[in-house]
Amino acid sequence: MSGSPVVMRLVASAYSVAEKAGAIVRKVLHSGDLGIVEKTGANDLQTLADRLAQQSICASLSRRFPKLTIIGEEELPAEETGEDLIENGQAEEILQKSCPAEYSGLKEEELVVWVDPLDGTKEYTEGLLDNVTVLIGIAYGGKAIAGVINQPFYNYQHGAGAVLGRTMWGMPGLGAFGFQLQEVPGDRRIVTTTRSHSNKLVTDCVDAMEPHEVTRVGGAGNKIIQLVEGRASAYVFASPGCKKWDTCAPEAILHAVGGKNCHFFKQTCTGTLAVYLTVRVYWSLIPFSKYLTISFFSCAGKLTDMHGNAYRYDANVKHMNSAGVLATLRNHEYYVSRVPPSVLQALKSD
Ligand code: AMP
Ligand code: MG
Ligand code: MG
Repeated sequence: MSGSPVVMRLVASAYSVAEKAGAIVRKVLHSGDLGIVEKTGANDLQTLADRLAQQSICASLSRRFPKLTIIGEEELPAEETGEDLIENGQAEEILQKSCPAEYSGLKEEELVVWVDPLDGTKEYTEGLLDNVTVLIGIAYGGKAIAGVINQPFYNYQHGAGAVLGRTMWGMPGLGAFGFQLQEVPGDRRIVTTTRSHSNKLVTDCVDAMEPHEVTRVGGAGNKIIQLVEGRASAYVFASPGCKKWDTCAPEAILHAVGGKNCHFFKQTCTGTLAVYLTVRVYWSLIPFSKYLTISFFSCAGKLTDMHGNAYRYDANVKHMNSAGVLATLRNHEYYVSRVPPSVLQALKSD
């Protein structure tokens, strides 16, 4: 389907390329030699899998889309990429979808791709395999407009016969696919945060959210999966450390959650309180309306810094998300309002 808009062809390629990268990540683990290198220290690692997966993703995408700007996490020497690392596939299910009108005219040279070839490297080296993801985010005009997350070891606890790996993707205005959206039941605040990059600011901020429960897991991609599958209500990381390649794909998927109707509804009703109230009153006549209302009006997620300000993903931005990461499916304002002054003081928005 070469007639599809370039952004749909790019997402379709990114899907196949992320699957190939996931297979590389599994293969390196099974080889038994991870080839670990410390980047800035013992908590900032790179393995052979990070290197090969990035080579595969960047070379495959730039061969098919030579005018793209691609920004990958790993600094690698410029060398020929072996043909065995090139992926030419494009996910047919994505080519079949119709592109949201606002993206259909985008040009290849206007798109920026943020690549984290292996998110959760520390956990990968420690055998916490379901924390690992491959992240490919696509940005236009500074905004995350599509994201692909491959989870190479999904199902690994199910033993030898289990089929490993899955790929999730999303585009605001089109929807999010490859998983079943679930929310944390009731109003429980389950906060997910780092397990390997904690400090006093991080723990003070988590405590200030008055969580009912805290889970500490590795990876930015993995924490977004916790959110969309109903295992966490907020991802709270009040520290520099996460970079744009950690958050671009997750942010796009969070915005895409809820799909076409949600996007249409939000666009149509922005600022139209009267419509909201009318629907709300009508709704209140229906039994269980509270629950219907909650799920109807709260369908899109958010990812910001600790001040509630959005990050930008233009090609020339600073890579570091210096003012932390706060991501939610709903009630974002509550979590922003709980951030302590000491955190706001220490982490200035860009
Ligand atoms: P975590 O939640 O600690 O698993 O971190 C999520 C992502 O941010 C991973 O890609 C980490 O490598 C990165 N990250 C967070 N904090 C740091 C840090 N202090 N140094 C290096 N990378 C970090
Ligand atoms: Mg990462
Ligand atoms: Mg990484």
